[in-house]
Amino acid sequence: MNRKALLIATTLALATPWAQAADVLVVDCGKFIDGLTDTVRERQRLRIEDGRIVAIEALTETGSAGAAAQALPPSTRHLDLLGLTCLPGLLDLHTHLTDLPENTADFRIYPRRSPEEHMAFAHRNAAATLTAGFTTVRDVGGYVGGLDRELRDEIDAGRIPGPRMQVAIAYLTIPGGGGDMLLPGFPRAEARTPLARLRMGVARGPEEFAAKARALLDAGADVLKIIASGAVLSPGGVPGSPEMTPEEIAAVAREAHARGKRLAAHAHGARSVKEAILAGADTIEHASIIDEEGLQLARTHDVALVMDVYNGDYIDTEGRRQGWPAEFLQKNIDTTEVQRQAFTRGVQLGVPIAFGTDAGVFPHGLNARQFRIMVERGMTPMQAIRAATSVAARHIGWDDKVGALAPGRFGDLIAVRGDPLADITLLEKVEVVVKGGAVVKSP
Ligand SMILES: [Zn+2]
Repeated sequence: MNRKALLIATTLALATPWAQAADVLVVDCGKFIDGLTDTVRERQRLRIEDGRIVAIEALTETGSAGAAAQALPPSTRHLDLLGLTCLPGLLDLHTHLTDLPENTADFRIYPRRSPEEHMAFAHRNAAATLTAGFTTVRDVGGYVGGLDRELRDEIDAGRIPGPRMQVAIAYLTIPGGGGDMLLPGFPRAEARTPLARLRMGVARGPEEFAAKARALLDAGADVLKIIASGAVLSPGGVPGSPEMTPEEIAAVAREAHARGKRLAAHAHGARSVKEAILAGADTIEHASIIDEEGLQLARTHDVALVMDVYNGDYIDTEGRRQGWPAEFLQKNIDTTEVQRQAFTRGVQLGVPIAFGTDAGVFPHGLNARQFRIMVERGMTPMQAIRAATSVAARHIGWDDKVGALAPGRFGDLIAVRGDPLADITLLEKVEVVVKGGAVVKSP
């Protein structure tokens, strides 16, 4: 590298502290929750090299933090968190980083804004998510097809701050289904985002769905997302009613699995949940009206339920205040309490439940508000933490990368002041965020 290139590289590294750090970071933690076990360890030292955790060891009781720091070579960065509790960076398996809650009041905003304008919001959403402690998200689509992939690539290149992302690129949905941004009467000439881009994943019949699925995988989708049943936040959708047939779902599942990818199925209704599991879905999104048989099926097939049990509160208060359509508000009421009761039953039965919030329906960065509901509705605080760490990572096939403080995984960690097992809402006030050994946020 010549001197000019070196100067540019150095300047870039300084200007992008969120990029994966190619050096050594040593973190001393007062309390330590690894995301895998129930044990809370005291005084642990974690060593991150080139973005990955390479070692975890106990600090001696007598050695002060200062003495411990002195023992390190001067080139090593040191983060003293002996007054805090460290946890793995959190995962949210159901976000829409390119969408905003306000957009739900009037969907015509989607064609009216240009892709660049949508993207400017997405950048802010990504930063807000990361600084709230969510270092990984599975983004299950947006109404403007492909924006999520662009966002993922910008983050991975270190150009903007944001979480690691798995992206779906577009919703696979039937014509007029819950993922179809059909806007009857909207004048084509006024659209600044092409209407075709808002309907990228619309298909009918197994062959057409398979072809669309292949196109999304070719375009770089990490996960496929289908709208199997009606949606709460879409005009005319009936959450309890199937939209896709079992054959259509199976066709998409085959394409995903043939490429080693997974299928996330939006399904509120009891029948759609069961059909999606039997057709090969790997996670069920919402699962609001799941019945006993569906819960048992999810458990025996090791399919994770991603139940967004917080956002009903937001929709009923803020959504109402923002003037969201009355139909949406009613369907939200119809699916909120029933979903929370199903969540409790799922916890009792030992069904795998992974943390996912539907952020975008409520403001990005408030994702951790869901922990309180999960604990109120039957999970222990440790179960809720695992749902957002190792359990979530396993169900998206990233358990070699994220979801635990363990050697070999990325150096993604957060820290809070106090004991999150005594007060789970501390996760709403994350003081430290490290992603890939780069300190994103510190006290
Ligand atoms: Zn969603």
